[in-house]
Amino acid sequence: MRDFVELTCCACGIHFQLEDELLELRKQDGKLFYCPNGHNQRFVNSPADELKGLREKVKEVTAELEEKAREVRELKCRLLAQDKDKSPRSFLDRILNPKSD
Ligand SMILES: [Zn+2]
Repeated sequence: MRDFVELTCCACGIHFQLEDELLELRKQDGKLFYCPNGHNQRFVNSPADELKGLREKVKEVTAELEEKAREVRELKCRLLAQDKDKSPRSFLDRILNPKSD
């Protein structure tokens, strides 16, 4: 025998039942289901929603890291350029032996 869970439509207020396995699936995947009057129903903050949010965050942080890495490369190039003109010690030498400057 199947178990059903009673739900209330947030749009029209009708009470309806959904099989518990299907209900659990919709909670996990965050996909739409419908009340008997055809109103969209959906569980928010499902694991699928969380995963989507995390993916977006990873994309955002990756873009920031790439931007910072680009800035670091530019600064290194500028230091190297200055180093050529002003110091007899090489840039690498000053990095490796900072106190002897
Ligand atoms: Zn409804």
